[in-house]
Amino acid sequence: MNLFDLTGKVAIVTGGNGGIGLGMARGLAEAGARVVLAGRDAGKGGQAARDLGGEAGFIGADVTRKADCEHLVAETVRRCGRLDILVNNAGTAIRKSPQDYTEAEWHQVMDTNLTSAFLMCQAAYPALLQAGSGKVINIGSVMSLFAAPHTAPYAASKGGLVQFTKAIATAWAKDGIQCNAVLPGWIDTELTQGARRQVEGLNDAVLARTPAGRWGEPADLAGIAVFLAARASDFVTGAAIPCDGGYCARG
Ligand code: NDP
Repeated sequence: MNLFDLTGKVAIVTGGNGGIGLGMARGLAEAGARVVLAGRDAGKGGQAARDLGGEAGFIGADVTRKADCEHLVAETVRRCGRLDILVNNAGTAIRKSPQDYTEAEWHQVMDTNLTSAFLMCQAAYPALLQAGSGKVINIGSVMSLFAAPHTAPYAASKGGLVQFTKAIATAWAKDGIQCNAVLPGWIDTELTQGARRQVEGLNDAVLARTPAGRWGEPADLAGIAVFLAARASDFVTGAAIPCDGGYCARG
């Protein structure tokens, strides 16, 4: 029996139309899952779904909106007949000094990174329960554990996501649903390309601070996504696992 086989499983990856989400989606699809990509940009999402192949496709959703989350789950179940794996990956960052954020910016980051996971978990619970072996994977960050001067709402949302992960894990273990968080280090995506343009010296600082001596690629997250989605991790729940080239180990 292959502990990592996802044949017959159905997954949703929010923010799956690019970056880390698409990297994880590729891993899940290679392991045999049908993967629904979700995001707001239908053009990018449709292209990503075609690249990924398979019949599940892309579903437009703003995961800060409860109605969109409910539609995303319902439409996935309508298309694929079930839902086994939920990857809460959609995220955003706004870099500023804490005193300069507007209230709207604070809420934008908290809603996208943290409230979205709550809304998706609520929407997905009946389907995950019915699947009999549901898996929730929340994408935190090394900023769930550390912080930097320009990360107040980001660090707060990602720290909160780890505690939310533990709460879901303890509540849903009896239902056979595992919930874990992945904490990526510095990964080369649109999100960090923006930060690289904004922050002089960021590239060198990341290379110096990361024991592996390189930026991560979205594909570096594929293996841990497959592990946490598969039978191999059935006794792992409530964990927050760095995937960071050693960034957290350095302290
Ligand atoms: P990208 O900016 O490349 O991707 C973010 C994704 O989130 C996009 O697909 C975007 O799609 C989607 N998204 C944003 N807001 C919403 C929304 N309201 N509703 C639905 N989808 C949304 O970033 P990354 O791939 O780098 O980041 C993915 C996750 O990994 C994030 O949670 C991020 O915080 C986390 N992370 C990233 C790290 C890195 O170094 N890159 C490090 C640690 C954590 P669309 O615009 O179409 O909605």
